[in-house]
Amino acid sequence: MFCSNCGTQLPDEASFCWKCGNPQKPTVKVPEPKWETCDITYRTIGSLIPDWQFVAEAVGPHGMYTAGESPRWQWDYVPGGPSKKSRAALDVLVSQLVEDGWEPLPRGESWYKYRFQRRVIVGS
Ligand SMILES: [Zn+2]
Repeated sequence: MFCSNCGTQLPDEASFCWKCGNPQKPTVKVPEPKWETCDITYRTIGSLIPDWQFVAEAVGPHGMYTAGESPRWQWDYVPGGPSKKSRAALDVLVSQLVEDGWEPLPRGESWYKYRFQRRVIVGS
């Protein structure tokens, strides 16, 4: 670091400047806020008549994990848009994520493609 008064180079831990005697403020290291993000995707369970389920896939400091799962619903095709069942399942997952502290981000390309971010609590 450098003396805030005369600009002399000082050791980082110096509390006074050896040249001008000016006291040095200790450099407080502000921890950078870390964010984890999550994306909503879906999966099917079973093969013959599969159940569908939305899954919130998060990427945090320790890698990928599942941040939440929606209730399962049975496939019900509705021309031109998401079915009521699928929308209701997504609503459950989204409100659960918001309750868990996730903040919504701008939406992705699909109607269910919600994205979220959450501040990582340091030390957890
Ligand atoms: Zn100085």
